Amino acid sequence: MSNTDVTDSPAKLANTAIVRMAKLGIPPTPENFTVWYGYLRGDDPDVVHMIDQFLESGETFTQERCNDLYLRSTAFAAKVIEEERDATLLSAGSKLEKSVESVMSLLDEAGAGAARYGETLADVGGALEGVEGGDRVRQIVSDLVTETRQVVQQNQSVNERLEQSNQEISELRQRISEARREAMSDALTGLNNRRAFDEQLRKGIADAEANNTPLSLLLLDLDHFKSFNDNHGHQLGDEVLRLVARCLVDCTKGRDTAARYGGEEFAIILPDTDMEGALAVADQVRETVSSKKIVRKSTGESLGGVTLSGGAAIYMDGELLEDFIERADAGLYKAKGEGRNRIAVIEAEHSLRVVGGNDMA
Ligand code: GH3
Ligand code: MG
Ligand code: MG
Repeated sequence: MSNTDVTDSPAKLANTAIVRMAKLGIPPTPENFTVWYGYLRGDDPDVVHMIDQFLESGETFTQERCNDLYLRSTAFAAKVIEEERDATLLSAGSKLEKSVESVMSLLDEAGAGAARYGETLADVGGALEGVEGGDRVRQIVSDLVTETRQVVQQNQSVNERLEQSNQEISELRQRISEARREAMSDALTGLNNRRAFDEQLRKGIADAEANNTPLSLLLLDLDHFKSFNDNHGHQLGDEVLRLVARCLVDCTKGRDTAARYGGEEFAIILPDTDMEGALAVADQVRETVSSKKIVRKSTGESLGGVTLSGGAAIYMDGELLEDFIERADAGLYKAKGEGRNRIAVIEAEHSLRVVGGNDMA
C-alpha cells in the first residue's frame, strides 16, 4: 500500500514520491516521478497493484520495469482525459435540454393558472351584472381580465421561444454525436479509423482482464498492393480498399471491431474469441477477399484479384497493448515471408503456425 492519504496536498505527495524513489534507488526522472506521484495518489488501480507486488517481492525497479510502468501510467491518464472530454460534451447537451424542459413545464403551469384566474375574473364580472354600483367594480374586473390575458399571451410567447431553444439544443447534441462518429471513422472506407481502433482495443483489453475472457486481434495487409496501384491506378486501388472493407464487415459481427489500421492495412478486434475462432475469421476474410474478381467498370477489363496476408494474436494477461499489437504484426510479417495470402501466428513461446495459403509469392 502507498501509505499516503490521497487527500494529502500535491506538495506533500510530490515530496513523498521523491523520497520513496530515492529509497528504492529509482532515478528521479520526470517519467519516474509521473509514475510514483500517480501511484501515491492511487490513480490507476492496476499500476498501484503492480507496484505493490514489486515492493512486496523486493524485486528491483529496473529501467525496463520503470519504462513499462510509465507507459501504463500515461495510457491510463490519456484514457481518463478522453473519457472526461466525451462525457462532458454529451452531458452538457442533455443537462441543458433537461433545464429547458423543466422551465417549460413550470411556464405551462403558470400559464394554465393565469388562464384559470382570467376565467374566474370574467365570471365575477358577469355575476356583477345588475348589482348596484356594479359598473365601477365591473370596470375594475374587466381591466384585470385584460391584464391577465396579456400575461397568458406573454407566457405563451416565452414558451414558444423555449421550445425552439430546446429543439436547437437537441440538434446540437445530434451534431456533437455525429461529429464524434465522423472523427472515429475512415473517410475512404467508412470503417473505424485508427483512433477508434486504439480506443476499442484499450476497452477490449480492460474487458478481457475484468471478465477473464479471451481477446484476439488480427492485422491484415494487402499483398503487393503497390504494384496493383502502379499497374491499374490509385483510383481503382481506392475502390479495392472499399471492397476489402466490405469483406471485413461481412465477415465480422456483434462486438467485433473492423478498422482501417493504415494505408492498405486493416485490423479486426475480436472480443470473447479464442485463437481458433480468430483464425477462422481471419481465414474467412482472406478467402472472401481472394475470391473477388476485379473488373474495370469503364472497359469491362478483368484485372484478376487481390490477396491479403494476416497475423493473429491472442491477448496475454497483463501484457502491454503495444506488445499485443506487435505480436499480431510479427505474425503478419511472417505470413508475408512464407509466401503471402495466408495467416500466421507467433505463439507466445515463439513457435509458429501457418494456416491457409497456396504458395502465391
Ligand atoms: P506487401 O505485400 O509486402 O505488403 O507489398 P505492398 O506493395 O502491399 O506493400 P508496400 O508497403 O510496399 O506498399 C503499400 C502500398 O499501398 C503503397 C500504396 O501504393 C498503397 N496504398 C496505401 N494507402 C493507399 C490508399 O489509400 N489508396 C490506394 N489506392 N493505395 C494505397
Ligand atoms: Mg502495408
Ligand atoms: Mg501491403
